[in-house]
Amino acid sequence: MTKVALVGIGKIALDQHVPAIAGSGDWELAATVSRSGTVPGVPAFTDFARFLAERPDVPVVSLCMPPMPRYAYAEAALRAGRHVMLEKPPGATVAEVQALAALAEAQGVTLFATWHSRMARAVEPARAWLSGRTVTRAHITWREDVRHWHPGQDWVFEPGGLGVFDPGINALSILTHILPAPVHITGAELEFPANRDTPIAARLAFSGGVSADFDWRQTGPQTWDIEVDTDGGAVALRMGGNVLEIDGETVAGEASIMGEYPALYARMARLVADGASDVDLAPLIHVADAMLLGRRIVTDPFHF
Ligand code: NAP
Repeated sequence: MTKVALVGIGKIALDQHVPAIAGSGDWELAATVSRSGTVPGVPAFTDFARFLAERPDVPVVSLCMPPMPRYAYAEAALRAGRHVMLEKPPGATVAEVQALAALAEAQGVTLFATWHSRMARAVEPARAWLSGRTVTRAHITWREDVRHWHPGQDWVFEPGGLGVFDPGINALSILTHILPAPVHITGAELEFPANRDTPIAARLAFSGGVSADFDWRQTGPQTWDIEVDTDGGAVALRMGGNVLEIDGETVAGEASIMGEYPALYARMARLVADGASDVDLAPLIHVADAMLLGRRIVTDPFHF
C-alpha cells in the first residue's frame, strides 16, 4: 500500500476522498494536513511545510482545498519530490496549472489533475458510441442548488472561485472527453449577483452547434444532462454522466463497477506506477474563454 496525505479536510475530503482511500487496496491514509479538519485515527498536521519536513515516508499528497489556495501547496509538494493529485478545477488559472505540469515533469514525479465526473458510469460508453460519428448538435443542462451543494462556502463567489462554473466544469470535463472532435466557445452570457464576483448562471455557445445552460438557482430536482445528436442517432448522459440513453432508450452500457473517487485513486496508483502524469486543461480553458467572451448581466444579490 502506498501512503497518501489528504490536504484540506473539508466537504469533499470527508464525503469522498476518505471513503475512497479506506476502500482501496492501493492506498493508506497516512496523514492529514488542515488548519481545522481531521480524520479520526490519522496523524494530523496543521502546517504543510512541517508535514513535508517530518513525513518523507509519504510519497503522495492529494490536495482537496478550493482552487485559489491550491497552487502554493502543489508547488511546495512537487518541489519536495511528492506525487500530487489535484481536485477539480486543477487551479485558479490556466497558466498556474501549466507551471505545475512543467514542474512535475522536471521533478520526475506524477501530477494528476483529476476530473471526477469523467469517471461517471456512462462516460466511457458514450465516448465509445460517439467515436466515428459526426456531432450535429449538443446541449448541456447543468442546474443545481448552490445552497445544498456548497452550504455557506463563500469562496465559490470570490475571485478564482469559479461561481457556477464550479459545477459546470464537471459537465465540460465530460463534454471534452466524449466529443469526437474539439469545439470552442463562441459566446457567453454570465449572470452575476449584484453583491458577488463570480457568476451564478451562464449560457454558453460553442462551435459545432454545441451549447450549455448552467444555473445554480435550481431548487427541487436537480438536472445534470448532456444531450448529443449525431449523423447516426442521439446519445444522452443524465444524472451527471451516470445514466446513458441511446435514441431515447436507457441502456446499461459497459458500466464501471467503481464509484468516481475510487476510480480516481485507482488511476492515480497506475500513474505513479507508470511514472506518468495526466493534466488535461481543456475544461478549464473553456471556462477561461467564457470569462473572456462573456456578456455581464447583473442579477439579484445572493446570500446563503
Ligand atoms: P471546502 O469544504 O470549503 O474546503 C475544503 C477545505 O479546504 C477546508 O475545509 C479548508 O480546510 C481548506 N481550505 C479552505 N480555504 C483554504 C485556504 N485559503 N487555505 C488553505 N486551506 C483552505 O470545499 P469543498 O467543497 O471540499 O471543495 C474543495 C474542492 O473540491 C473544490 O475545488 C471543489 O470544486 C471540489 N469538489 C467539491 C465538491 C462538493 O460537493 N463540495 C464535489 C467535487 C469536487 P482547513 O480550514 O481545515 O484548512
